[in-house]
Amino acid sequence: MKLDDTVLTYDQLLDGARRVTSLLRSKGIEPGDRIGLVLPNVPHFPVLFYGAVAAGAVVVPMNPLLKAREVEYYLEDSGASLVFAWEEMADEATKGAKAVDIECIPVEAQGFLGLLAEHEPDDEVVERADDDTMVLLYTSGTTGQPKGAELTHHNMVTNALTSAETLVELSEEDVVMGCLPLFHCFGLTCGLNAAVAKGACLTLIPRFDAAKALKVVGRDGVTVFEGVPTMYAGMLHADNADDADMSSLRTCISGGAAMPAEVMKAFEKTFDCMVLEGYGLSETSPVASFNRPDRERKPGTIGTPVRGVEMKLIDDEGNDVAGDGEVGEIAIKGENVMRGYWGREDATAEAIVDGWFRSGDLATVDEEGYFTIVDRKKDLIIRGGYNVYPLEVEEALYEHDAVGEVAVVGLPHDDLGEEVGAAVALKAGKEATEDELKEFAKEQLAAYKYPRVIWIVDELPKGPTGKILRREVSPPDSERSE
Ligand code: AMP
Repeated sequence: MKLDDTVLTYDQLLDGARRVTSLLRSKGIEPGDRIGLVLPNVPHFPVLFYGAVAAGAVVVPMNPLLKAREVEYYLEDSGASLVFAWEEMADEATKGAKAVDIECIPVEAQGFLGLLAEHEPDDEVVERADDDTMVLLYTSGTTGQPKGAELTHHNMVTNALTSAETLVELSEEDVVMGCLPLFHCFGLTCGLNAAVAKGACLTLIPRFDAAKALKVVGRDGVTVFEGVPTMYAGMLHADNADDADMSSLRTCISGGAAMPAEVMKAFEKTFDCMVLEGYGLSETSPVASFNRPDRERKPGTIGTPVRGVEMKLIDDEGNDVAGDGEVGEIAIKGENVMRGYWGREDATAEAIVDGWFRSGDLATVDEEGYFTIVDRKKDLIIRGGYNVYPLEVEEALYEHDAVGEVAVVGLPHDDLGEEVGAAVALKAGKEATEDELKEFAKEQLAAYKYPRVIWIVDELPKGPTGKILRREVSPPDSERSE
């Protein structure tokens, strides 16, 4: 593990984790108790994570940017007994912990080692069954407030091994870029757990920064880059992109959101590497499908189901949808599907029917079993009775040379029900007017699909992994009544 000049060896990781186990036992933590982790990507994260898992605890990772009210919600909902928070960002977590009357242990960059030194390593690992919960990952799922996806030991271990062995084929020689947040399933499974399973080096960036990521690839000889599409776009447009040494890269994987074809093409051309796209959700640990290296790559698709996983398309009633390019909701079954939502039997029963998890994502499947995401069920725009998939409109706008990022959303409309709107962030140094972009989209898309309302913004709202949050995009007041 690396973070700039700080190096954590596997011996140190093991020793630190054993001391964490001992610390937790001294606090009376029992197997099955929930422990909150509120940390950015720092080497202390894995030390705490594996120490807590070895003590049999269930880890509840949280974004360190959460406000006190949010931390309080997660701690209360999960019934956590203790929380660790990165000291520089611990104010909100401390308040959240106080509100539910539990201890918050600040984790200082250096001081933490002192705290661990007070505890002798404890190498007794608590035996856990395959279906015991390892982590609770909070996600909104398809609807409603955040719920804790209960991921079991079997879910987490098999998905990390599948990722390490069949998707990126990791070995001790690899250096994996750790810029995806470790509190999110993509970073936790495909970054941390996959790297540790194979003894690879994980080089951490506490918070993604495109220019820094480019430098780190060259500096550390990164061989595997893992990111969401906005990270790829950011690196492509970074000031230092022309000078970046990316020669060490052998595989890049993208997931978490649709990779725009233009971004993929440009990234591969600029940095002379191949990007493989996959798909998954927090509820599926996360990887469900991937453009696997052992099969033909089909850009624009999310590939085929990974080892131990089945996927199919269903309609609103849950019946199987015949292939033939028909759109259906992706349903997933296999060793990666969560046990359920913590403490929410109703939501679990709605999400998992006969062992099939309903993803809320709409897709088609071709005759070779490759799935293509059409959109998210709840993001579908219905304009005057016609279905408009925001993703398709976004793809069309990405083809314009000045468009850096785009989010297409439905706007309320008196007659049509919904109108298509697009928020666009331009590439640095490029210019385009809203009318010009509208004309461009009109030329590419059917009349009912092109966005009648386009507005230019400096930046689009993003989630913790850097995914664009369509649901938080709203038009300027002047455009609302159009
Ligand atoms: P999360 O639980 O935060 O990992 O979000 C999962 C959601 O991300 C899925 O339900 C999809 O809507 C979206 N997603 C993940 N991978 C892809 C992909 N390759 N293409 C399109 N959407 C994706």
